[in-house]
Amino acid sequence: MVQQTQRDDMTWYQCEQCGMLFDEREDARKHEDNCDAEDPSYIQ
Ligand SMILES: [Zn+2]
Repeated sequence: MVQQTQRDDMTWYQCEQCGMLFDEREDARKHEDNCDAEDPSYIQ
């Protein structure tokens, strides 16, 4: 699930699985559909 976050007065969308940030919600959602991060220990 994409997490919305504020940083530098901008809204970012973060992949919950690997932590990658996107400035467009759709980009984050598309990424997450293809995200192959399966090890949650990276984020903790
Ligand atoms: Zn990801």
